Amino acid sequence: MATMNDTPRRWFEQPPGFDARPRKPGADEGPDLWLRCPGCRAALFVEVLAESLQVCPHCEHHFPIDAPSRLESLCDPGSITVHDTGLTSVDALGFVDSKPYDRRLQASMAATGQNEGYVAASATLAGIPVEIGSMDFRFLGGSMGSVVGEMITRQIERGIQRRVPVIVVSASGGARMQEGVLSLMQMAKTSAALAELKDVARMPYVSVLTNPTTGGVAASFSMLGDLLLAEPKSLVGFAGPRVIRETIGQELPEGFQTAEYLLEHGMIDRIVPRAQLRAVLAQTLAQLLRLPAPSVG
Ligand SMILES: [Zn+2]
Repeated sequence: MATMNDTPRRWFEQPPGFDARPRKPGADEGPDLWLRCPGCRAALFVEVLAESLQVCPHCEHHFPIDAPSRLESLCDPGSITVHDTGLTSVDALGFVDSKPYDRRLQASMAATGQNEGYVAASATLAGIPVEIGSMDFRFLGGSMGSVVGEMITRQIERGIQRRVPVIVVSASGGARMQEGVLSLMQMAKTSAALAELKDVARMPYVSVLTNPTTGGVAASFSMLGDLLLAEPKSLVGFAGPRVIRETIGQELPEGFQTAEYLLEHGMIDRIVPRAQLRAVLAQTLAQLLRLPAPSVG
């Protein structure tokens, strides 16, 4: 009687050295060349995405964009002078969650090549001098610790001194819990500086809300703009929807906390796709400063 071969049947030949085990995340040899758009499921080349300011060319899904690229996309070429890059956070509370705060800081510094999650610069935008800055979500979720708060405050103070408009682009999970009350104090500090920009220097402050702008950042300087612009479909709010639902014991309306919902309810002024942000900022600043209409290249 014929029996099955003792060796297990091979359905296909594998090349020598083939390893069928799933790869560990991050174990790839090189950087990914393409990624899948969460908006339309299209496969996008990373290089193409970089050319379109990290916006999907098919469905306009806005991917996160790092702070240096953001400033380059808004400011006139060659006009950017960055400030306060030497400031670094300290672990004043000796905070440890699943990892010590110190180690988290080191990892974010290595991943971004920056000392902190904020880049502030003096620059011109369509020829208009501005003090501009952007949060960087890659650095500990764009959280606001005492250094981020200090950098924003110094940026506003430069705006007061130079009598130029201030622009802040937000992308943040909120205050940095690893710094406890020291990070919460930044809410008051940045807000006080903005009041001075308005009362003393009489210069406009434009806040650009991007996905996400939440927590103590949304509860302070991000929502204090004389003009509040937001990127499409950004999540903007103080507490997350689950916390609110459980607190008030009610279902939340559709689209709650999106930029579109906030616009409909009068909380923000305008939704601006990333590709148009430079032109809209230029036109608006010129109007507010009573300058001739700028030509935006
Ligand atoms: Zn897409």
